[in-house]
Amino acid sequence: MPLMPSAGLRARVALDRHDFRTSHALGQNFLLDDALLSHLLDLADVSAQDNVLEIGPGAGVMTALLAGRAQRVLAVEVDERLQPVLESVLAPHENASVRYADFLKCDVGALVDGAFGGAPYRVVANLPYYITADILLRLTTCARRPERIDIMVQREAAERILSNPGCKQWCALAAIVRHYGAARVLEDVPAAAFEPPPHVESCFLEIARYAEPPVRPADEAAFLRTIHAAFAMRRKTLANNLKSAFGLSAQQAADVLDRAGIDGRARGEALSLEELARVSDALQEAKY
Ligand code: SAM
Repeated sequence: MPLMPSAGLRARVALDRHDFRTSHALGQNFLLDDALLSHLLDLADVSAQDNVLEIGPGAGVMTALLAGRAQRVLAVEVDERLQPVLESVLAPHENASVRYADFLKCDVGALVDGAFGGAPYRVVANLPYYITADILLRLTTCARRPERIDIMVQREAAERILSNPGCKQWCALAAIVRHYGAARVLEDVPAAAFEPPPHVESCFLEIARYAEPPVRPADEAAFLRTIHAAFAMRRKTLANNLKSAFGLSAQQAADVLDRAGIDGRARGEALSLEELARVSDALQEAKY
């Protein structure tokens, strides 16, 4: 049997043949090294039962390696210039398919149900950093949430996601991710591993969905609105943020915080997930 060239080599040849130039605006910092990617997929523990959604396959090296390990891979790529490259790199992998679309405009449920039926799925990706937060918010709050998310992100984003209440970095994204699952850094990845190298540090992050969420607010959608409201204006007190977000009077905002057992002068960024859930429930009880 002829020896198959590595996915990285196939990608380099295809990128060259199509004279592909990476776009900085689309966050195109590719990983083309089979050995590094195999190591990352080992850390992510990708196995033969997995249905994998990849956001931003780029030249498709990670996609090809995922397809070699997983049951099915669906990749969503916004840049149609990559189509001939991906067709060539993924030709040996019948279990991998690519949808050319902006992930942020996709209906995640329709996308994954179309590819995987109703089966559980996970996300593995080297994300475009300029939309990391938007992608994570969609994945962790949509009706069809993944079981696990393994993503390459900017180190700064990882620090925010791993931050705790009261820290400077604690933000709506951190609170929402913490409600979804447990995050940890699997590996720091040097800028030199990417082509072209980004001007920031990167790390590969695992977020494993909780079987039972840490808090149980009465209404999930109201809880998310409360989290966004609490962090909307960082220099404002929570009471003032609630007033602007829910159109409350000062007295109504004070009553909600009182009912939730929160100090009226507290700032949103000091609140734990449990306290945010109490505020959300108090807003619900008062029918705001
Ligand atoms: N996975 C590839 C790799 O590791 O070499 C590429 C990763 S690169 C950091 C990010 C990829 O996301 C690029 O291919 C880029 O075109 C794609 N991308 C950027 N914005 C996107 C969007 N809104 N929806 C889907 N893909 C997007």
